[in-house]
Amino acid sequence: MYMSLPVTDTAAGTAARQVDTLIIGSGFAGLGAAIRLTRAGKDFLVLERGNEVGGTWRDNTYPGAACDVPSNLYSYSFALNPDWTRSFSPQPEIQRYISSVADKYDVRRRTVFGCDVLGARWNTATFRWDVHTTTGDFSAKILVSAVGALCEPSLPDIPGIEGFEGEIFHSARWNHEADLTGKRVAVIGTGASAIQIVPAIAGRVEHLDVYQRTAPWVLPRADREYTTVEHLAFKYVPGAQRLSRALQYLTRETQVVGLAKAPIFMKPLEFAARRHLRRQISDPELRRKVTPNFRIGCKRMLISNNYFPALARPNVDVITDGIAEVRADSVVARDGTVRKVDAIVVATGFHVTDSPTFAGIVGKNGRSLAEVFDETGMQGYKGSAVAGFPNLFFLVGPNTGLGHTSMVYMIESQLNYVVDAIDTLDRHRIGTIEVRQEFQDEYNRKLQDALKNSVWNNGGCASWYLDKHGNNTTLWPGFTFEFRRLTKNFDLEAYRGVAAADLTPAVAATVAEQTEESEQSTGKAAVR
Ligand code: NAP
Repeated sequence: MYMSLPVTDTAAGTAARQVDTLIIGSGFAGLGAAIRLTRAGKDFLVLERGNEVGGTWRDNTYPGAACDVPSNLYSYSFALNPDWTRSFSPQPEIQRYISSVADKYDVRRRTVFGCDVLGARWNTATFRWDVHTTTGDFSAKILVSAVGALCEPSLPDIPGIEGFEGEIFHSARWNHEADLTGKRVAVIGTGASAIQIVPAIAGRVEHLDVYQRTAPWVLPRADREYTTVEHLAFKYVPGAQRLSRALQYLTRETQVVGLAKAPIFMKPLEFAARRHLRRQISDPELRRKVTPNFRIGCKRMLISNNYFPALARPNVDVITDGIAEVRADSVVARDGTVRKVDAIVVATGFHVTDSPTFAGIVGKNGRSLAEVFDETGMQGYKGSAVAGFPNLFFLVGPNTGLGHTSMVYMIESQLNYVVDAIDTLDRHRIGTIEVRQEFQDEYNRKLQDALKNSVWNNGGCASWYLDKHGNNTTLWPGFTFEFRRLTKNFDLEAYRGVAAADLTPAVAATVAEQTEESEQSTGKAAVR
């Protein structure tokens, strides 16, 4: 397939495969983009660093990995899955689902596996993206970044950790060769991943030390197997699964009021979480340790029925004194206690607002996304474009994350927008487009205004939702149907475009000049 693609020389003189659209990543977002572009009859390729589709669901194979969004909501609207075995799906089932969708829509044929993108640079001479990868170079008119927010593990900077001589691995890079049975194990972190890992391994390790920096809020998990009647209904009764999905969607959407608009409405959930904790932990000292000190929803709300019981086991300790250092065979707490361990599980999350992938994407003015975001924070337009980066679209971009419902819904909204954008370019024979700085600034001003009263900004916690400037550049601050409306159609008027026929070096210089002028006149209005 790829051999048949035309091969030309780039300005740098290296052979590059020419393609209209390159999609980086084949998780829910990249796969969805591939399917929608296939349907639209567009020329594209997917670049995937792994050897299989699935993204975060392929990578997170830790024991106990499962989704905390109901199964019926956690699928594409165009590929419902009547075969989910449970109301909340375990990771292997979600991975199987994603893989089956890739097969059904024949996406693998247009995917380059084992292809790690090392860098992408906007070429001001060819008006295309030069993409440098481990399997060769590509030249694309349009680049779609679908790498996701949770792809780059964040490792804790703890003195001595590199010198640990036992098994040590991140939750998203689980080492299945390492048998933890009968071992002394430390888990660092108590986020969404850790609270699934801890109960899954507590029963088979000799001893487990859980290093907690911040106690999370944990709610009951209404997980159960689907009955035969439900399965038959999902399969054979027209609309049954869609109805279940719609009810779940609407129920979850009510949480937006408390999360984004008036945190006082989070009280009932906080009450339910407190009761859950009281019911599951009787030891007053342990209860005190694991009671959160911020408002529920400020960090991601977790759901589990077996996390607290696991902490209450005699072979499990919750350590809240912080970690001073790691030695070859032990973890030393800040109070000086040395605890011997054979293995350490690092469940410390991901680089989100400071993803290392940003450094490799270089835009029109020779500046990387990392440089731009370092200055302004992770700002974009409708989660899909960033000024200074022509013909680049993001899926799961800035301020598209959610704390209450399915990301697949947001991804499908973005797909409407991005596919319409690509179609608009083709229809009007536009060579390049770039979001106007003033539109991006105004969009972000409104976003930050909407986030002002949210629990994420006011709940009294530190979280990965906030960037180093203190701005929330990760979450969507409203109802998800509002985002769906916003991204229904591509809004060409927010972009500066150059007709394909006019793409000459002289035009490139003019466009660069105009952009600089526009940035100078509007830059100060940006939210920083
Ligand atoms: P996370 O939510 O960012 O949690 C990281 C944990 O590690 C936190 O408890 C954090 O403490 C702790 N930590 C970080 N650095 C540390 C350090 N240097 N020393 C000690 N502790 C440290 O990461 P995650 O659990 O991997 O989850 C990330 C996201 O993935 C979630 O928010 C969610 O969106 C997604 N996820 C979803 C599911 C699902 O079911 N759908 C499952 C897993 C993950 P602090 O709280 O004090 O920062």
